[in-house]
Amino acid sequence: MTKVIVVGAGAAGLKAASDLLDVGLQVDLIEARDRLGGRAFTDTSMGVPIDLGCQWLHDAPDNPWVVEAKRLKIKTFKQVKDDFYFDPADLSVARSKECRKRVESLEGQIESALTNDHTDSAAANAVTSAKLASGDPWYPVAEARVAGLEESAELSEFSAIDHHAEDVELPYEFEPSYGNGHNYLPHGGYGALIEAYGKDLIARHGDKGTKRLSVFLARQVTQVHRASNALTVKSQKVSGGSALQFKPRAVLLAVPTSIIAAQKLKFVPPLPLATSRAFAKLPLGHFKKVALQFTHDIFSVESYATKISLEKLEELRKTFPKVQKDDEVWPLPPSKSKHTWKFISNLHGKNVVVGFVGGALAKQLEQESDNAVIQHALDRLTTTLGPVLGPHVKGMYAKRAVVSRWDTDPWSLGAYSYTAPGGKGARSHLYQQPMSDELIFFAGEALWQNSYGTAHGAYYTGAAAAAAMLEALGY
Ligand SMILES: Cc1cc2nc3c(=O)[nH]c(=O)nc-3n(C[C@H](O)[C@H](O)[C@H](O)COP(=O)(O)OP(=O)(O)OC[C@H]3O[C@@H](n4cnc5c(N)ncnc54)[C@H](O)[C@@H]3O)c2cc1C
Repeated sequence: MTKVIVVGAGAAGLKAASDLLDVGLQVDLIEARDRLGGRAFTDTSMGVPIDLGCQWLHDAPDNPWVVEAKRLKIKTFKQVKDDFYFDPADLSVARSKECRKRVESLEGQIESALTNDHTDSAAANAVTSAKLASGDPWYPVAEARVAGLEESAELSEFSAIDHHAEDVELPYEFEPSYGNGHNYLPHGGYGALIEAYGKDLIARHGDKGTKRLSVFLARQVTQVHRASNALTVKSQKVSGGSALQFKPRAVLLAVPTSIIAAQKLKFVPPLPLATSRAFAKLPLGHFKKVALQFTHDIFSVESYATKISLEKLEELRKTFPKVQKDDEVWPLPPSKSKHTWKFISNLHGKNVVVGFVGGALAKQLEQESDNAVIQHALDRLTTTLGPVLGPHVKGMYAKRAVVSRWDTDPWSLGAYSYTAPGGKGARSHLYQQPMSDELIFFAGEALWQNSYGTAHGAYYTGAAAAAAMLEALGY
């Protein structure tokens, strides 16, 4: 029986393993973490699913993870939410609507500056030459939406051309269409869904199933050695010691690009120059989530009923936005600050607020302790809610929080991929070119030009790499 190896049990590796098992191959799946899912991980410590990695099933209902959820009998639901723009000097519905228009217009201007740039240089150049109104107090929010939050990098760090690169013709196309742009959420979290997918695979093909799948957790692959047509994959236990060598017919590497660029996984002989250059041009950016539990819903004026005067309460009842559970709140950044936060209010009705930051601020916060990050988020919520409500926010903090840490995570070294300037074509280079001797294949979110930085993009690359491997092996 043909034996192959898949390295990495994230969305891409699990999908690849599934397709290889489906046609009868024997698969060793090697994963450095002690769990399945990679950058998909759901924390449940606060009694509500909090996704520290992927959260939204984008492009649903065509997203393949929606289809997999249905097969696994996991419910998904369409996200219903509103967006609010909080100017602490005027927390009224009317002002929120005005600010929303402003942000949308600025965002449109940044997007079109990037679309008109064809130079493969930093996106910041395009924005500078378009002379946008970057002095507008809402400008940092518009920029964060295009850069920090979407690319997990600053405009100065990613290539303008990649941001709007045309979808490429790919040798293996799987999806019939790209959905209708809706975001869905899986009941129980996206991390839990991908973990369930992996567990189902083990149930069907592990010791109690076909016995064709062996999963090695907490084991890192350190080297892929190739000598003519023979492969040796070297690994060791993450905790140290216990080296194991594998001799597969072929290997599929579904690890983040950052791991290969940092040479945490080495190749003997080294990868061709164009391939290693492509990995180096696809670093993972910075994105931080902070979930804080409160005793009350801090975005409802009713939560302040015993804390502020009746007069103020009556006034706010007439003007304050009706922020519902799971709505998004965009605060006006403090003056002179380039950085912005987004908050999800009252997550699933459990008084949990989730703060999001991307790019440089996320990178900076990653250097600080969890407590410092929590304080930072609490400070931003305090200013966001203005001089009347803000001073009561910290008193409602239930002292329960979860903070993500992807930058310093040794198995991701960042959040999700962006293309560094000069990196045009890096994604499709890696996607379309298995090694020339067709023993080594790559997969992972960074390789999916059409929706990089997503879990469904990762899924498609897993399927594509498995298909390429099967073809090379004569299946
Ligand atoms: C904060 C954040 C928010 C996000 N939000 C969304 C969202 O809302 N929607 C969406 O679709 N996507 C989102 N994403 C992106 C999504 O999570 C990823 O694109 C996807 O999970 C990546 O899957 P992957 O299989 O390519 O990589 P990973 O999930 O990173 O899997 C790679 C695996 O390889 C393992 N590995 C690494 N090195 C080795 C080694 N040497 N040996 C063995 N194993 C190794 C890792 O431990 C990991 O398990 C988000 C990501 C982050 C970080």
